[in-house]
Formats: sequence, structure tokens, C-alpha cells
Amino acid sequence: MPLKPFTALVRDVPDFPKPGILFKDITPLLQSGPALRAVVDALVHESRSLNADVILGIESRGFLFAAPMAYATGSGMALVRKPGKLPADTVKLSYALEYGSDQIEMHADAIRPGQRVLIVDDVLATGGTALATAQLVRSVGGVVAGFVFLIELDALGGRKRLEGTPIVSLLHY
Ligand code: AMP
Repeated sequence: MPLKPFTALVRDVPDFPKPGILFKDITPLLQSGPALRAVVDALVHESRSLNADVILGIESRGFLFAAPMAYATGSGMALVRKPGKLPADTVKLSYALEYGSDQIEMHADAIRPGQRVLIVDDVLATGGTALATAQLVRSVGGVVAGFVFLIELDALGGRKRLEGTPIVSLLHY
């Protein structure tokens, strides 16, 4: 199924969560069974050659795509979450966001040394979150096989910050 029509299923919400941010709301796309299936299938297809051992989802909307990708490929999952959510020993990192700054956390044993990890999120904006996640993965000995996004906001230059590692993104704005 061609993906182009699905760009219309991402709703622009101006000034959310702060004035000046044009928020890309994926809930209309999630509401469409055919669209959801087609984008997950396309993400799996586009990422197959990256030979990942682990699919890592970034909280929270990254989980929506990482879980079905893991199911489809038979890989296990790792979770990167906001601070204070994970129960066992964690590794942490602070990073700058398009709107403000934040911290991410991952279980210290989420990835074994040498495992190839696919980092999945809904939106690539400035790339700060994905870059911080890659640093966390590398800090525990993981290899970043690639980054996978449903949406890439081309004008924000995230791709440049992630240079050197393959990037899959389906819908461009
Ligand atoms: P960044 O670190 O700037 O690449 O931002 C990526 C993270 O923030 C992702 O987890 C997105 O879900 C979220 N995000 C950033 N900008 C937007 C936007 N304009 N619309 C929707 N989500 C966004």
C-alpha cells in the first residue's frame, strides 16, 4: 500500500504542548486499521536489512511501533523511559528536547554487550532524544544498528545529528 496518503492522517496541533510548537498528532493514523497495519509493515520491511537483535522503544509513542515490530520480527524489546518508571537498576542520561529538557532511563541489563539495537520512536525532531538513547545503548556495550521513525520533521535537522548510523523514516514533513 502506498504510504503517501497516510501523511494526511497525521494531525497538526498548533501550540501544543507549548506556544510555537506544531505538534504532530498520530492518533488519527492509529485509529485507522489499514493505515496502522501498513505503516508497521513498512517499518518492519525497511528495517529488516539492519539485522537487529533487539527493538528498543522510546517512551511513550515509540512503544506503539516498537512492540509490533518486535512481534513481527521475533526480536525482544528494550524500553527507554522517563525517570522513575523502571523498577530495577538503571542507567540514565540528560538531554535537550525541542521543547525543554528531559532525562531518560533504561534498565542496566536491558541490552547485552554486542547486541544490535534498533532505536524506535514516533517522531524525529531535533534528534536529541534519539542521540541520548544511542549514547545509553553504547554505554552498556550495545551496537546501534539503526534509528526508525514513523515521522521525520526535515527542517529540524535531526538526521544530521544522527549521522553515521542508518535512519529509516516513513513520512516526511
Ligand atoms: P527530539 O528529541 O527533538 O528529536 O524530539 C523527539 C521526541 O519528542 C519524540 O519522542 C517525539 O515524540 C517528541 N516530539 C518532538 N517534537 C514533536 C512534534 N513536533 N510533534 C510530536 N512529537 C514531537
